[in-house]
Amino acid sequence: MLDALVVAPHPDDVELGAGGTILMLQAAGRRVGVLDLTDGEPTPHGSIATRRRETAEASRILRLDWRENLGLPNRSLQATLEARHELASVIRHTRPRWLFAPYWVDAHPDHTAATELVEAARFWAKLTKSDLRGDPHHPERVYYYFCVHLRVLPSPAFILDISEHWQTKLEAIRCYQSQFVAGRSTAAPTFLDSLRDQAAYWGHLIGTQFGEPLTSREPIGLTGLEHLI
Ligand SMILES: [Zn+2]
Repeated sequence: MLDALVVAPHPDDVELGAGGTILMLQAAGRRVGVLDLTDGEPTPHGSIATRRRETAEASRILRLDWRENLGLPNRSLQATLEARHELASVIRHTRPRWLFAPYWVDAHPDHTAATELVEAARFWAKLTKSDLRGDPHHPERVYYYFCVHLRVLPSPAFILDISEHWQTKLEAIRCYQSQFVAGRSTAAPTFLDSLRDQAAYWGHLIGTQFGEPLTSREPIGLTGLEHLI
C-alpha cells in the first residue's frame, strides 16, 4: 500500500522531475513508490546492466519503499489496451492515494504515451466487474511533474519548497552517470549545473532557495492557508 505512486517512462525521469517531491513525502512519513515503464535503453553511453545499477543506487538515495519496472518497450512506448491493463493492475495492487505522471506536453513520444497511459489506467483501476485482479481503486489526484524535452516555460499549479532536499535530489540524479555525465560537455554550465539553476529559479519565484514545480489538470483544493509560503 502506497501513499504516492510516481510513474515514469524511463528510469531517471522521476529523479529529474519529482525527486524533491518524493524526498519531501518520505520526510513526512509517506510511503512512496516508483514504476518505471521501460528500461530506457538503448542510449549512447548506457547498457541495461549499467542502467539497472544506477537505478538501484538512486532508489536507495530517494529511500523509496517500492520500485518496479513494467518492462514495456523503450522508444516505442504506446498507450495500448494491454499496457493499460498492466498499469491498472499495479494501481490496484499498490493502491496509492496520489498518482504522479509526466507533463502532458513533450517532444519525446514515450513521455506523452506515459501520460496518456497513466490517465487511462487510473480510470480503469476503479472499474467494477472487470477482469483486473484486486479490488477497484481510484487515486484521488494525478499530479504532473516536469521532465520535458522541449525548451518551454512550464506553467505550474504550485511549486514545492525543496530547499532541504535539493542536495539529496542532486545526489540521486548523479547516480545516472551514463545519462548525465558520460559524453557530456564539462564546460560550465554542465547539465547538472543547469538543473541546479532551474531549481534555483523555481525557488526564487516562491522566495526559497530551491523549488520543484508541479501541475494538475484539475483545480487544487485547500483546507486552509497555513501551509502556504
Ligand atoms: Zn524520459
